[in-house]
Amino acid sequence: MPRRKKAAVKGEEPVLFEETKARTPEEPKEAWENARTLDELEEMIHDCTKCDLWKARTNFVFGTGNPHATFMVVGEAPGADEDAQGKPFVGRAGQLLNKILEAIHFKREDVYIANILKSRPPGNRKPAPEEVEACLPYLKKQVELIKPKVILCLGLTAAENLLGTTEGLGRLRGRVLDYEGIPVMVTYHPAALLRNPAWKRPTWEDVQAARALHDKQLGKK
Ligand code: URA
Repeated sequence: MPRRKKAAVKGEEPVLFEETKARTPEEPKEAWENARTLDELEEMIHDCTKCDLWKARTNFVFGTGNPHATFMVVGEAPGADEDAQGKPFVGRAGQLLNKILEAIHFKREDVYIANILKSRPPGNRKPAPEEVEACLPYLKKQVELIKPKVILCLGLTAAENLLGTTEGLGRLRGRVLDYEGIPVMVTYHPAALLRNPAWKRPTWEDVQAARALHDKQLGKK
């Protein structure tokens, strides 16, 4: 007769691992996570050294605009002009962004402009994953404080990191996507338009759609 396997008896298992303590809600967060205003947040994070980019930066580029903006624009990272002035989109791409905003009847001061990274990557290279990992929570906190009605992502770096998607720009454009319940639209980065003027027409269509979505969100026609 085959021998029956002995049933495991509760309480008889050897203790192989010490129980680890579960993370309790009281565990201290980083102080900036509790910031109540953008000014407070900037004060708390402007000397951040979480990634190596602080070593070469002149200025931490936090973001600028209306703290109660209903329309938020997200770019990639500061370039040389932004690093020098401490403000996003103030170079050539920024001049073009101003024109794009004017074309949809927004002034720069009406909207809020920020980037995925707050410090300039050397030679304007693409943000490295560890830089995004360190810096993206700051942008997310800005969004939480501003509570915009629409976010416009400029270029794939902004879109893929904010939305956590791997889809290409061609598939993201023309759709209303979602970030934490906030509608997000995606278009070309103005620096890409400077290199490829043929993308100006589709960008015009994208930003018109973003403006229409914004007005609809606000209950305007
Ligand atoms: N490009 C960006 O993505 N952001 C800036 O602030 C400037 C150029």
